[in-house]
Amino acid sequence: MTNGNWACFNCRITVRRPTWRQVAYFRPWVIGSKGDGQVKCPECKEACNFLGPKIAVPPKRDKAGWEKLRSLVIEAKLYWHDRVRRQNAERKHQIERQIQELIHRPENEGRKRFIESLRNELEELTQ
Ligand SMILES: [Zn+2]
Repeated sequence: MTNGNWACFNCRITVRRPTWRQVAYFRPWVIGSKGDGQVKCPECKEACNFLGPKIAVPPKRDKAGWEKLRSLVIEAKLYWHDRVRRQNAERKHQIERQIQELIHRPENEGRKRFIESLRNELEELTQ
């Protein structure tokens, strides 16, 4: 464990909370997210955005630096959002093909369970 920064871009304030050291490496899409909204800005009480443990935060007086940080975080969020969306779409097609293929095979308990688990995964991806 290490400490990660949570930022309020409007107030230019960070709150430090324990996080996982490698979080930005293994789960880069969480950068910029508000998590469950539990980390609040001490000034405006809005939910802060998670920056992870490694992103350098400019001093409070550096307005331009904060704006730059905000746009970088938004850009990264959009990138990962898009990428996850594309991966989900690919996985959905893969599952649909697999189900179609399995349906045409002779019926047995294993096939039935596998189709069921694929359908569950498909449902989760569709939410
Ligand atoms: Zn704030």
